[in-house]
Amino acid sequence: MIHYICDRCKRQINTNEQPRYVVQIEIHSMADEVTLDIDDDIDQLSELHQALEGLACDHLDDEPELDHRGSYDLCADCHRQFLRNPLGRDAVAAFGFSNN
Ligand SMILES: [Zn+2]
Repeated sequence: MIHYICDRCKRQINTNEQPRYVVQIEIHSMADEVTLDIDDDIDQLSELHQALEGLACDHLDDEPELDHRGSYDLCADCHRQFLRNPLGRDAVAAFGFSNN
């Protein structure tokens, strides 16, 4: 029999007695798109292309690795609290763990 541990409260999840919830999180860093003002009289596309390449390369080289992918097991209690407050904002402290 497989035992699961809630990744939030670290309690064991007995799947015979309660459901197990799996939260899958994907975070992608979204770089701002580079936009250039193009005047009508610009016809030197190669110069523009070089400028774009330079900007893109500099930007990517400086960008830290921010992407994240994770899968977390939650017990029923934590699932409920997670739904109320997925981003873990102030409300979590107010709820506390008094019901235990
Ligand atoms: Zn839990």
